[in-house]
Amino acid sequence: MDKQQDFVLRTIEERGVKFVRLWFTDVVGTLKSVAVAPAEIEGAFAEGVGFDGSAIEGMTRSYEADVLAQPDPSTFQILPWRGEVDPTARMFCDITTPDGEPAIADPRNVLKRTLAKAAERGFTFYTHPEIEFYLLKSSEYKDGGPQPIDNAGYFDNVSGGFGQDFRRRSVRMLEDIGISVEFSHHEAGPGQNEIDLRYADALTTADNVMTFRTVIKEVASEQGVYATFMPKPFAEHPGSGMHTHMSLFEGDVNAFYEAGAKYELSKLGRQFIAGLLHYAPEITAITNQYVNSYKRLWGGDEAPSFVTWGHNNRSALVRVPVYKPNKGQSSRIEYRAIDSAANPYLAYALLLAAGLKGIEDGLELPDEAEDNVWELTDSERKALGYRPLPTNLEQAITFMESSELVAETLGEKVFNYVLLNKRREWKAYRAQVTEFELRNNLESL
Ligand code: GLN
Ligand code: MG
Ligand code: MG
Ligand code: MG
Repeated sequence: MDKQQDFVLRTIEERGVKFVRLWFTDVVGTLKSVAVAPAEIEGAFAEGVGFDGSAIEGMTRSYEADVLAQPDPSTFQILPWRGEVDPTARMFCDITTPDGEPAIADPRNVLKRTLAKAAERGFTFYTHPEIEFYLLKSSEYKDGGPQPIDNAGYFDNVSGGFGQDFRRRSVRMLEDIGISVEFSHHEAGPGQNEIDLRYADALTTADNVMTFRTVIKEVASEQGVYATFMPKPFAEHPGSGMHTHMSLFEGDVNAFYEAGAKYELSKLGRQFIAGLLHYAPEITAITNQYVNSYKRLWGGDEAPSFVTWGHNNRSALVRVPVYKPNKGQSSRIEYRAIDSAANPYLAYALLLAAGLKGIEDGLELPDEAEDNVWELTDSERKALGYRPLPTNLEQAITFMESSELVAETLGEKVFNYVLLNKRREWKAYRAQVTEFELRNNLESL
């Protein structure tokens, strides 16, 4: 028994924990949970907890349905919203086969594998997400669509406002569960909010994103409202992005920093961005995985539609924020396409893999976009070499299908399963006769 496992067992004892939830994620990023009695945890550390994975999206094929959840003791936390009486705790798990091999479709393992590759080259990958979401009166939508809880806008300070209390309560709860928050504010849409997590290594961040979504949904239900991470719930308001800031460290040194260079961005940082730009269309089916994701990417309101980079350019896909004075630690780049409904494990694995490939192949960074890319004409964009991101899920699937980078990073099983799952979604979407068609065609044709 290692020290961390020992700490978990002692804490369970001392705090009188009555339930331990074992958490893991399916291929599309839905959180799964199984509650285990505290007496089982010692055995779980030694041997894992067996369950039938066949009913879980993309987890197993039916003839190899038995899988084991192996709890990661470093993720042990008491769930603050369950209260002090009969406390409940959780641990994230790795999923393995009964012989201890990684299961065929454990997204957490995909990220771990990719981080291990980066570590072989001496890199630690840090990320921090800015997570946007909408607060609605309920999950119901009627004729007028979903009902946001307020009418405020970007950074609005609403006196006595519900949103403020909601953010306060959420931030407290996140801190209680060990997640540090940097900023929180009202976003541009009515009822839209943003909370930015402090940077951490990418596995911790991905776990934190899963916990974050749960905390926000819990606080919402406690307060009688509904929170949604849907990428674009309103055609007429901004979508919910999950801009992610990234940096590579070599030991204590930020490898993206170079004093005196343009934007203080090192050659390695430039190559990392070049990799992101090169592979952006191929990874979009993962960073933007739903039919609805493309309504955000192509719906304006500061969501990126074209493959460009820039410094202070909010129409760019990749932005290099420059903070002064930058003492060399905060150098980072921001990827702006990814949305709040992405599976963070798979998305972060691909962002890292794309950047590393840029470094490995010594890719050259094209000129930065100085203009508002949306305002250019198609031919101007073409002349400047600005490619569009996929315009819908089908196009994104087509890019992904022929991507060696995505196949290699996800592994064959996850790769095939995601494609199967996404093709199914596109087919169901395409089969619909929409309100748009009825409105435009029924009477006139
Ligand atoms: N909501 C915008 C998006 O979809 C981002 C707005 C912002 O934070 N600048 O990406
Ligand atoms: Mg922000
Ligand atoms: Mg924002
Ligand atoms: Mg941002």
